[in-house]
Amino acid sequence: VRGYEGRRVGVLGLGRSGLAAARALAAGGAVPVCWDDGEAARKAAEAEGFEIADLTKDRACEGMDALITSPGIPHLYPAPHPAIVTAQAHGAVIDNDIGLFFRSFATEDWESFDRPPRVVCVTGSNGKSTTTALIDHLLRTAGHDVQMGGNIGRGVLDLEPARDGMIVVLELSSYQIELSRALSPDVAVFLNLSPDHLDRHGGMGGYFAAKRRLFAEGGPERSIIGVDEVEGRFLAAQLREEAENGDPVIRISSGQKLQGAGWSVFARKGFLAEWRKGRQVASIDLRAMPALPGAHNHQNACAAYAVCRSLGLAPRAIEAGMASYPGLPHRCQIVGDVDGVRYVNDSKATNADAAEQALKAFERIRWIAGGRAKEGGIASLLPLMDRVEKTYLIGEAAEAFAAQLGDHPHIIAGTLAEALAAAHADAQPSETVLLAPACASFDQFPSFEARGEAFEALVAGLKT
Ligand code: ADP
Repeated sequence: VRGYEGRRVGVLGLGRSGLAAARALAAGGAVPVCWDDGEAARKAAEAEGFEIADLTKDRACEGMDALITSPGIPHLYPAPHPAIVTAQAHGAVIDNDIGLFFRSFATEDWESFDRPPRVVCVTGSNGKSTTTALIDHLLRTAGHDVQMGGNIGRGVLDLEPARDGMIVVLELSSYQIELSRALSPDVAVFLNLSPDHLDRHGGMGGYFAAKRRLFAEGGPERSIIGVDEVEGRFLAAQLREEAENGDPVIRISSGQKLQGAGWSVFARKGFLAEWRKGRQVASIDLRAMPALPGAHNHQNACAAYAVCRSLGLAPRAIEAGMASYPGLPHRCQIVGDVDGVRYVNDSKATNADAAEQALKAFERIRWIAGGRAKEGGIASLLPLMDRVEKTYLIGEAAEAFAAQLGDHPHIIAGTLAEALAAAHADAQPSETVLLAPACASFDQFPSFEARGEAFEALVAGLKT
């Protein structure tokens, strides 16, 4: 990382991204001063030879230019970490690894590149990982040199150095964007906004404002904006208004026809359509894409398509890439087909909103749900029960969910193994057995990944 040669820079939080920041700063000639509230993390940094100092104390923050914070550290709500308060009192800039990355990228010697590297950033409330991974896959299959990172894959400071023609695709959360002091993507995506993480942003307005920073004036050359919510519509209109020449926005939607002037990509009735200046340019049958089921994935597909078009890919190349996209593990992932019954792992659906997307993506469902319940349980999902043949309940939430389901057919299976065995015994050809728990996994599994892997292993056992 360039820009801090010979300067003291604090690093707060010594997890993976904090250590990567300390290493990158040291490699660029800065003097990182590290702190973490946990002793084990401090020891790990000390073992690498980094200076440790309690950054909540005035002495440690004197003469410090910047403080690099980790994504888990609160800077505003419920209350700022004391080290942030102390660092600010001493005039230090509060930044993060994303800021360091862009700062460094911005000072590359562009003369030495024939085709300067480009950066694509993806943000939104839901679908970030899927969209980012899909963009990575589409660009790669079209022969591009791609690096994927941020919130998925490698941390930004663990990516390989800039190379000629390289495309960096970053997934960014609202926290990462909010704290980053430099953001200069070439292409940026705003997928959607739903009330999530509101506690840390002080309400919906703060949450939107955080994501909005990615599109600040003089921002991306091309902005891809989901316009299915009021915030996206507002942002798209503002960006157009701010643009000095031409229209920098591609609007995307899952469900709405966007055929007006300008550039748009939308999905309706299973088809993706690209429109430019009032005419259809291309269309893709998304129903033929095995790893992109459901309207929510169609939104992700529209975003990834728009990014690839912005970077010059042909519609047919994108279509071919979508067909071979393998999907991300545990997110509406088809993990088996036994006697005409499809088995789908959506273990990542740890709340009712995510489970809703999965229930809407399939029909004639045998639904495995339960675990450690979130507030409201499955009340919001009851209107979707006409898509479900029967529900198989597991974990702590089983009794409460059974009460919520009332007359709708269900059994209390208890464990995932029993639920799958019962669903397998009941299932008829062309039905879907869907694990979309609408619950955290911690009552029975260490993580949603472990729960999904257990499901996959059980499904594999059905085949033999
Ligand atoms: P993120 O990285 O934003 O958490 P993921 O791609 O990991 O998103 O998807 C998480 C879950 O959110 C999925 O299992 C799915 O149920 C739901 N989801 C995915 N894409 C969307 C979308 N575009 N809109 C709403 N929900 C979505």
